[in-house]
Amino acid sequence: MSDEILGPGSTIGILGGGQLGRMTALAAARLGIRTRVYEPSAEPPAGQVCDAVQGGWDDEAALAAFADSVDVVTYEFENVPVAAAEIIAARKPLRPGAAALRAAQDRAEEKRFLEGAGLKVAPWAEVNSLEDLEAAIAKLGTPSILKTRRFGYDGKGQVRIKDPSEAAAAWAEIKEAPAVLEGFVPFKTEISVIAARGLTGEVVCYDPGENVHTDGILSTTTVPAAIPGGLRTDAVLAAGRILNALDYVGVIGVELFVAPTGLVVNEIAPRVHNTGHWTQDGCAVDQFEQHVRAICGWKLGDGARHADAVMENLIGDDAHRWAEIAAEPGARLHLYGKAEARPGRKMGHVNRIKPKS
Ligand code: AMP
Repeated sequence: MSDEILGPGSTIGILGGGQLGRMTALAAARLGIRTRVYEPSAEPPAGQVCDAVQGGWDDEAALAAFADSVDVVTYEFENVPVAAAEIIAARKPLRPGAAALRAAQDRAEEKRFLEGAGLKVAPWAEVNSLEDLEAAIAKLGTPSILKTRRFGYDGKGQVRIKDPSEAAAAWAEIKEAPAVLEGFVPFKTEISVIAARGLTGEVVCYDPGENVHTDGILSTTTVPAAIPGGLRTDAVLAAGRILNALDYVGVIGVELFVAPTGLVVNEIAPRVHNTGHWTQDGCAVDQFEQHVRAICGWKLGDGARHADAVMENLIGDDAHRWAEIAAEPGARLHLYGKAEARPGRKMGHVNRIKPKS
């Protein structure tokens, strides 16, 4: 067995202890691999199923000790500060690497990276002042969307601009944070590709899923996506290009708009992804196991889809329907162990599975 391969009995470290870390830990445990998460808050969801270390992102000694206690480190959310990731990477393999974090944390960097990889993104401009915003609106027109460069997720840090007269209000609404303005893409549907790249450069892509968002939060993912076969191929090829350009190891989520002119890449998430949860019940090897395999240097698994699936997120009070959902034929319930069902909080999901059409 090569030195690069971390077999059963190894320990994975995960930066972040939310549901993505939890489901990764569960998949690792099935392969006899241990998991330890590093998380600033107390009692994270992943801490119910694996070791959890509480520590801040600026605590160099705690980060170093964490790295020393595991064999390989990954992350389950893309806002891990690059400085923290670099402390880890100096001591243990960090997969995916810090380059992927850099590209995904900042919307301007992300767009430059994607354009450099030859992919199409929405028309955009950098915005650092109200004057920049007015100039960007003059160039890109309305409707357009102002997005903070950093810390945007689930539709947060975004303002839609319907008319140039709304510029000052939009700039105030994002608290004058460095931003990008994006031209509105008249998309028909939103899709995503979950893809994995192993240590040797092999790539496995899952079938693209079609996503529906409500109030900026993912509501459902449906596979197969109702798109022509040619677009499915384009989407998978786009994901492969991104993985190679980042010399990536692990699972990535790539969100795309299906526009009249073809595919437009919306954003990348250098981690397992909510729109890939259907793979847990629709594929022999799901995205979580695939990520574990990739970062441990294993051969990637079979990502072929064996069922049609609809994944529904259970948000806030939706989780109170757990007993009813658990009784549904063909439904597979996944709950994250979060005590309080706050509005907008992802509490779990359900995969509804049917024979492949
Ligand atoms: P994001 O956080 O960038 O993924 O944006 C959240 C949601 O807003 C997306 O899933 C789309 O539904 C919508 N959206 C974002 N950017 C654009 C755009 N340039 N054109 C049209 N819709 C967009």
